[in-house]
Amino acid sequence: MTPVRDNYYSENWYEATEKFRNNAEEFGDCLQWCVSDKTKYDIPYALIGNGPHKVVINSGVHGIEGYFGSAAQNMFLTEFVPFFDKNIRDNYTIVLVHVINGWGMQNRMREVRDFAHNGALVDLNRNFGVDFTQPDKLPQNPKYDIAHDLLLSTPDEHKKMLEIKKFRAKHLHDGVWAAISNGQYKYPYGLFYGGCTPMAENKMTLDIYDKIMTPDTKSLTSVGLHTGLGRFWRKAGRVTGQMLVSHPSNHENTKFFHKITPSVSPVVPDENAVNGPTILGDLVDCLENRYINRNIPIRTADFEIGTGEFPKMSPIFKRMDMGDARYDLLHYNRINLITWEHLTESWYPSDSGWRQDALNKAESLFNTLLHAMQTGKIK
Ligand SMILES: [Zn+2]
Repeated sequence: MTPVRDNYYSENWYEATEKFRNNAEEFGDCLQWCVSDKTKYDIPYALIGNGPHKVVINSGVHGIEGYFGSAAQNMFLTEFVPFFDKNIRDNYTIVLVHVINGWGMQNRMREVRDFAHNGALVDLNRNFGVDFTQPDKLPQNPKYDIAHDLLLSTPDEHKKMLEIKKFRAKHLHDGVWAAISNGQYKYPYGLFYGGCTPMAENKMTLDIYDKIMTPDTKSLTSVGLHTGLGRFWRKAGRVTGQMLVSHPSNHENTKFFHKITPSVSPVVPDENAVNGPTILGDLVDCLENRYINRNIPIRTADFEIGTGEFPKMSPIFKRMDMGDARYDLLHYNRINLITWEHLTESWYPSDSGWRQDALNKAESLFNTLLHAMQTGKIK
């Protein structure tokens, strides 16, 4: 029988952080804090073991996705860490970085608002490792421009949805549809906006990784926990887990994750990322570049929980809901309650079955990671 794990989930950032702290402190002095003067949402992280191979599991780089990520990390502390043996503790340091975007989690938003720059909505996972010193040399995404006006047009549940659906059909094979989520630095209220300056949360995250990456480090394996659904539909929704690797199939990191990831959760390579990353400013590619001169294995990926049941409609609704939220903020300075509800359900469904299944996916991921450590596959 599947255990009931409702108690791993929290109602807000404060409760989640308190739970994480209590669970981590069960294992002695393993908790550290990255404290910021720019945001009140400090980032706690727990270090288990003291080996040279570093295995990091981070959560909540997209705020609202931190509800699942935090629950999964609490499950890890409660159900996995007590069974770590000396072999694991001597060879590995397992690090749990708890909720990178605390503001977003507390406010049930995926992004963080940059109040120093007109309240722009910044996707922190498009803000890592970007050189903001020369604004006219920021990465360009001209294909996003083609979709921007439609995405931010007047909300209309039926008409706008049909128009976005038509747009998708027209631009599915010319790269425009896919480019929407790749990141852009032109429209502060556009979708997947990477910001105009390094955000406090990004600096904090990289500080934590720099501390983890002590000179004796022999490898880094880092997995981010994400959810990304697009309106979960109770009747047809099915929870999926995918390991998203930002490299083509033949890349050694893709092969590595293929080897260690549970068979129930497919590894999804990015065949377009031949000459560099497709997604701009994301954490995984930033980490791989940041430590490239160490000449040690640096493998990064995102574990994404989805529904899988509407490969077509989910991304349409998701983009529409994000566009509607921005329309509301631009015109009324607040998000319409219906749009808010849609956004929340898209990234953190209230369905208890989804919440349980999502943790089951995380459990199989953790089991595999643990097994890979026990058998020395992560080296
Ligand atoms: Zn995410």
